[in-house]
Amino acid sequence: MAHPALFLDRDGIFNELVFRDKSFHSPRSWDEVIHFSLAGLPQIKSLGFKLIMITNQPDIERKIISQKFVEELHDFYQKQYQLDRIYVCPYASNEHPLKKPNPGLFLLAQKELDLDLSTSFLLGDTEKDTLAAKKCGISSILWIREYNQNVQSDFRITSIKELMTILSQRSNFIQRKL
Ligand SMILES: [Mg+2]
Repeated sequence: MAHPALFLDRDGIFNELVFRDKSFHSPRSWDEVIHFSLAGLPQIKSLGFKLIMITNQPDIERKIISQKFVEELHDFYQKQYQLDRIYVCPYASNEHPLKKPNPGLFLLAQKELDLDLSTSFLLGDTEKDTLAAKKCGISSILWIREYNQNVQSDFRITSIKELMTILSQRSNFIQRKL
């Protein structure tokens, strides 16, 4: 049976964005990483959801961020939160099918991990995330920050507790259907 997943964006969810040159960027080194606490996230796996990070990192192709740093940071998050898989789009072009808001990485994950997208969720902080989710029938959850109040989404949260409530309800619904 195909599993549901909770897809997670990285910047703005796992770590803060870095304000530089009048706009927000991904951290470029460990010195710039300020973690958000996502304590309780691994418990979501007990509801039957796979935990999968999907992140745009276009500064890799631009050679502004090293692949080595990205891999180290992702190893840390994978261990810390028991993530099942991490998918990275390293390409800078907005036309690239793997770069959000295009749905390529979600579709790749569906194929590789046998996922049921119709019962899956995405947790993100930008319109790129929620649009990508919408394109492939995934319910979107926006983590409210000061910069994203106008972004449309199916759900809005400000804590892991609220996330758990939404996913528990869906999990009960799926079990009733079986
Ligand atoms: Mg983000």
